[in-house]
Amino acid sequence: MEILGEFGEDGLEIARKVTKEGAICDHCLGRQLAKISSGLSNERRGEILKEVLRERGEELKAGKCWVCNGLFEQLEYWVSKALETLRDYEFDSFLVGTKVSGLLLENEELLWEIAGASYAEPLKAELNREVGKRIEHDTGKIVDFKLPDVVVILNLWTETVEVQVKAVFIYGRYRKLTRGISQTRWLCRECRGKGCERCNFTGKMYPESVEELISDSLREEFKGEEMVLHGCGREDIDARMLGSGRPFVLELQEPRRRNVDLRMAEEKVNEENRGKVEVRALRYVNREMVAKIKNAKMDKTYRIEVELKPLQGLRGHGAEPHKTRVPEEEVKNALERLSGALIEQRTPTRVLHRRADLVRKRKVHSVRLVSFEAQNAVMEIKCSAGLYIKELISGDEGRTKPSFSELLGVEAEVKELDVLDVDLDREVEDFTV
Ligand SMILES: [Zn+2]
Ligand SMILES: [Zn+2]
Repeated sequence: MEILGEFGEDGLEIARKVTKEGAICDHCLGRQLAKISSGLSNERRGEILKEVLRERGEELKAGKCWVCNGLFEQLEYWVSKALETLRDYEFDSFLVGTKVSGLLLENEELLWEIAGASYAEPLKAELNREVGKRIEHDTGKIVDFKLPDVVVILNLWTETVEVQVKAVFIYGRYRKLTRGISQTRWLCRECRGKGCERCNFTGKMYPESVEELISDSLREEFKGEEMVLHGCGREDIDARMLGSGRPFVLELQEPRRRNVDLRMAEEKVNEENRGKVEVRALRYVNREMVAKIKNAKMDKTYRIEVELKPLQGLRGHGAEPHKTRVPEEEVKNALERLSGALIEQRTPTRVLHRRADLVRKRKVHSVRLVSFEAQNAVMEIKCSAGLYIKELISGDEGRTKPSFSELLGVEAEVKELDVLDVDLDREVEDFTV
């Protein structure tokens, strides 16, 4: 009995043309009419069409399918190859993709020339779906078209399976307890990483970085490759990062594990980097968080130790007598005038090689003198993002106005600097996926 149904005589005509070209499998035949009838697999469509054609007395050629070259008979082969590759990865969602070989692409184009492509579905769409269904069935994981944890790629050229893994992002805050550690890997300026005498053949400007120390502790947990630390700003290499720490997002590329207990991970980092780097409040976020912390404008609190140099360079008017020491009262007065001041800061000479030369206006929110002894002042300064603190003290030869040095009338220089707090917007800080 004929069951032509939705295909109609038009559909049957297409099927007739296609089968005349050579032996074709049910999948490849059914796929040419995928958009005509709903609710059936391509394989079932092919079966029905062949049945009707035979009933109408058509001779159908037997043998290997000339379109897919027997690919759909090897579905189980590809499924097991994919499952074997996936075994190394932790994932909740996945997607299957196919790199179709040139031969199959040509066959498909030829087929569409013969039969028209108006109702057809591409070969790789069917292969992706069929393999995906079987993987879902075998693993209990789900297909996700938007943002899968892993993409399995069936490479028909090389007959191999490749995997693309979505990066894992972890938000947290770090404290840097020792000076001389850079925030991220810093390639040697001389050799650009190749290794030379200047860098003692390490390829790096500084032996250690926060990025590497954290990464080294977590590499084993996540079984990942590269890790990149995105900081919410950065402190100078010779500054410590204390207090509440600096927000960062760690991007772990191609991780094989993605559901690591972060409380444990945190302990491991802190244990292994005792006295150097600490992390806290780690939590999983998505890629968006990188842009959020990069664009965030945050107030910062510094603790600095400033050395006054009254003998070397008294500023102000020539008529004043040289001082040998500055009284605490004058230091306090200068700081009081700095508190709440709007600073016009021209790009510091020391960063001119990498930043445009322009004048920025930044605010000093508050200043507190912690101690003053032997012409050394320890102070805490809270200011808005982007204010260069060393120049706020020294004046950078008049490029920063007003400056502590200018207000005091004495040369002053930051000897030691620590960042105590990076004040991130609550909204950004609490942002979750
Ligand atoms: Zn086929
Ligand atoms: Zn070098």
